[in-house]
Amino acid sequence: PFSDGPDYLQRLNPEQRTAIETTDGPLLVLAGAGTGKTRVLTTRFAHILLSGRARPNQILAVTFTNKAAREMRERVGALLGTPVEGLWLGTFHALCARMLRRHAEYVGLTSGFTILDTDDQLRLLKQVMEPYRIDTKRWPPQGILGVIQRWKDRGLTPARVTPAEDSDFAGGKCRAIYTDYQTRLAQLNACDFGDLMLHMTEIMRTRPDVLSQYHRFFRYILVDEYQDTNTIQYLWLRLLAQREGQPANICCVGDDDQSIYSWRGAEVENILRFERDFPGAAVVRLERNYRSTVQILGAASGLIAHNDGRLGKTLRPGRDDATGEKVRVVSVWDSDDEARMVGEEIERARAGGHSLSEIAILVRAGFQTRAFEERLITLGIPYRVVGGLRFYERAEIRDALAYMRVLNQPADDLAFERIINVPRRGIGAAAMQKFHLAARERQMPLAAAVMDMIARGELKGRAREQMTALMSCLARGRDALPREGQVVVVETLLEESGYIDMWKADTSPEAPGRLDNLKELVRALADFESLAGFLEHVALVMENEENAGAERASIMTLHGAKGLEFDTVFLPGWEEGVFPSQRTLDEGGLKGLEEERRLAYVGITRARHRAIISHAANRRIYGNWQSAIPSRFIDELPSEHVTLTGAAAQARQRGHGHVPVFASAFPVMARRPRVTDVADGGATTPERGIAVGTRVFHQKFGYGTVSSKDGNRLEVAFEKAGLKRVLDTFIEKT
Ligand code: ATP
Ligand code: MG
Repeated sequence: PFSDGPDYLQRLNPEQRTAIETTDGPLLVLAGAGTGKTRVLTTRFAHILLSGRARPNQILAVTFTNKAAREMRERVGALLGTPVEGLWLGTFHALCARMLRRHAEYVGLTSGFTILDTDDQLRLLKQVMEPYRIDTKRWPPQGILGVIQRWKDRGLTPARVTPAEDSDFAGGKCRAIYTDYQTRLAQLNACDFGDLMLHMTEIMRTRPDVLSQYHRFFRYILVDEYQDTNTIQYLWLRLLAQREGQPANICCVGDDDQSIYSWRGAEVENILRFERDFPGAAVVRLERNYRSTVQILGAASGLIAHNDGRLGKTLRPGRDDATGEKVRVVSVWDSDDEARMVGEEIERARAGGHSLSEIAILVRAGFQTRAFEERLITLGIPYRVVGGLRFYERAEIRDALAYMRVLNQPADDLAFERIINVPRRGIGAAAMQKFHLAARERQMPLAAAVMDMIARGELKGRAREQMTALMSCLARGRDALPREGQVVVVETLLEESGYIDMWKADTSPEAPGRLDNLKELVRALADFESLAGFLEHVALVMENEENAGAERASIMTLHGAKGLEFDTVFLPGWEEGVFPSQRTLDEGGLKGLEEERRLAYVGITRARHRAIISHAANRRIYGNWQSAIPSRFIDELPSEHVTLTGAAAQARQRGHGHVPVFASAFPVMARRPRVTDVADGGATTPERGIAVGTRVFHQKFGYGTVSSKDGNRLEVAFEKAGLKRVLDTFIEKT
């Protein structure tokens, strides 16, 4: 429609062009998913430069993640035809850190200040709290840190916290602790993440000279994902944008339906007050979605319509080429089946020439990644866990595995060293040195040396008490293993050693996720016939290094997927208690549920061509099987855009007899059919018929002959390595 104007404006629709060419004055772009908000922002950046309105370093552009910043930098470079340097483009934190280095002295720091991580923060806070004699059982330090962080999110320095704000938590001592904590930070020439924004905002509030310097400097401000800004970010933006006697050249793009960070203090109201704060603001609405097919859009729009109090936006298909496939809802037996289904679909897509980097599995919670990771490794499909660690690399999983290793193998010094003081048992560096020395002198493994020292009365006080307790936990576990099996024993060990309690006492936002990961680990353990077998399996799985550069499928959380797009998106675990999350259900409020629904909307709208939702009929809660109820969000999808494929057909094929499509009709299962039943049935791995007596090759152990077989687990007599139990998936026939 528009043949005039420069090249880079050609392929935009009229509303997008308006948003780009309205360069001066405040502008809010309010639009649904995939309507080109980010593209508008990028093109606007290029347009400002190409039309000579500003130099590259005179534009301030805020993205939500570092990844988004990188992409925007590349896209701007591509539009300009040359890479650009020195841009003020990044996340709020990155931009603030850079600014603060220039003005650190105004808040009592020098420009070389350190930024503390969460562990350091907590350690420091505990020191600060000591003189206050707070009952830390009742008011754990993590909770107090949370209070402080929320104050920082709201732009409240200690001086700005009113006594009224300080009433309930920790008996009204938070404000004083906060003050001391900030003083200590300054003494250490350090700040925490929250301080980056807080300090910069405070400097701009109190130093007009600094502020006007930035006002002269930044001519244009661009902000992506505006719906997820919190109060301090909002204050910071407003300070920078409102310039005396000049228009506020600020352009924010956002979508109220994608506000998913209220748990981190984000205020969707910031969108609503934009027109009040910046009088004369233009508001542009984009309605054409260029990302997704008609079917995907229909499903997403129908779902989000169940939320109240929306600003209300229209979404129309912008690509006339694609009605596309309906959104698929697949009901599966359990999470292993779910992983199998996803794995098969990915293999099929790959065989059909689709790129793995165009495929994503989006989970609600971190624990869900395990089943998919293992399946993809088994199938040899390269993947990456975006924005997080692979399941078996997570700290709590490594800790728990270390407990298991010591249980299995008392001489495993590395594992013992990892757990000896986790949770805290008063074993410091000096004590550790003593243990090592004893172990060397007496030529014993570390754990045995500790036992020996206890026996000889060489350990005193708390250390003796704690070490005795730990060692007897381990001994009891070893003793019970043959009788009670690995699941019960490991669960008991993690409980009795205080490891689980350590995370239960932790009130940081990540702690519940860690506990879920631990539960998932114990669930996985149940699939193996022995603890040793499981540990070997983990070692083998972890051996599969990610090969850099290769095309990989992405696994990530729904929160991490904001702003991204993929051809094919898998949305597993749509069950009540998983998604919406159990926590949301327990809290019972409408607000939480609506945020979960927005998260579902974000999930579906990541897909260009295919969205595949799944839910398992059964989830194992520790050793027991329970039937799971499909997510209410599945019912809310408009039926004309959805096809249901059920467990029924699959189950019949696997010999479960008649099974209704929906999980709510499943009885509570005491135990699932064994994994091996399925594998032997050949339903999923028909090619793996490795018989006893077959000569095989294994990556790590070399050549050998299969001596016995239990489903997909083989016992192989290796020529060099001896007799080993291995999974058939790691074996090749020769
Ligand atoms: P989200 O709300 O998910 O962040 P968004 O509104 O930022 O989405 P973009 O990511 O900018 O949307 O755009 C979605 C897709 O549509 C991108 O692949 C983009 O290149 C494409 N697109 C945007 N505008 C147009 C257009 N006018 N013509 C063709 N494709 C377009
Ligand atoms: Mg975007």
